[in-house]
Amino acid sequence: MTLSFAPLSSGRLERFARHIVLPEVGGTGQVRLAGSRVAVIGLGGIGSPALQYLAASGIGRLALVDNDVVDVSNLQRQTIFTTRDVGYGKAVSARRWLANFDDSLGVDVSDARITADNAAILIAGCDLVLDGTDNFATRLAVSDACVAAGIPLLSAAVGRFQGQVGAFAGHLPEESCYRCFVGDAFDAEDCDSCADDGMLGAMAGWAGSFAALQAVKVLLAGAASLGEPGWSKLHILDGLTPGMRTIRIAKDPSCRTCGSAA
Ligand SMILES: [Zn+2]
Repeated sequence: MTLSFAPLSSGRLERFARHIVLPEVGGTGQVRLAGSRVAVIGLGGIGSPALQYLAASGIGRLALVDNDVVDVSNLQRQTIFTTRDVGYGKAVSARRWLANFDDSLGVDVSDARITADNAAILIAGCDLVLDGTDNFATRLAVSDACVAAGIPLLSAAVGRFQGQVGAFAGHLPEESCYRCFVGDAFDAEDCDSCADDGMLGAMAGWAGSFAALQAVKVLLAGAASLGEPGWSKLHILDGLTPGMRTIRIAKDPSCRTCGSAA
């Protein structure tokens, strides 16, 4: 079989053959992925497995943002890091993983803490933002920046045996943003970290890989037939039962980021 998709070399065609053979992705979809740029905010329990599948899927450029340092207690679920990375920055360690995995992919790295002041710069030019950070203040800052820039957001969270992955496009008139979902009460920096409650490592893997699957769907919309992005839907993953349910987050007309008054 001879396939030719101009932007993809024969080596890339071979690497992504199992994608390209899928009618729902195809060469056109793979070219779209190769031309896409995704920001991964937070390289922890979610960002780590998500990054592995985003990189494996051939997304051409990844922007990695995390101000944290690898701790030995991270290794139970943050699968891109190894014992040798302990004490080093997560962003630079993730870049090292990415370079070993596929040095054809472009990467931008920031070890800044993402805030309302720098979020717009850190996500500029991206086709999608995947937020796997662990506190509401950061999530809201990222969401607000996404709405302002017109960039879709996948917001993912995990704790104990539960995960949540939502696709938001609050810049669209009918779709909600992450702030419509959680409201304004969480702008305060009262971090709700997993240190107290615990988390099953594989649960983070499920949430992260599911977020990567949703990311591919978002990126391929309009180029391939993998399905709709599923804006304003929140998927709730239950690792104990196990099961998954989906709820729709309505746009809040009074949302100060995406509502009619904004
Ligand atoms: Zn909103």
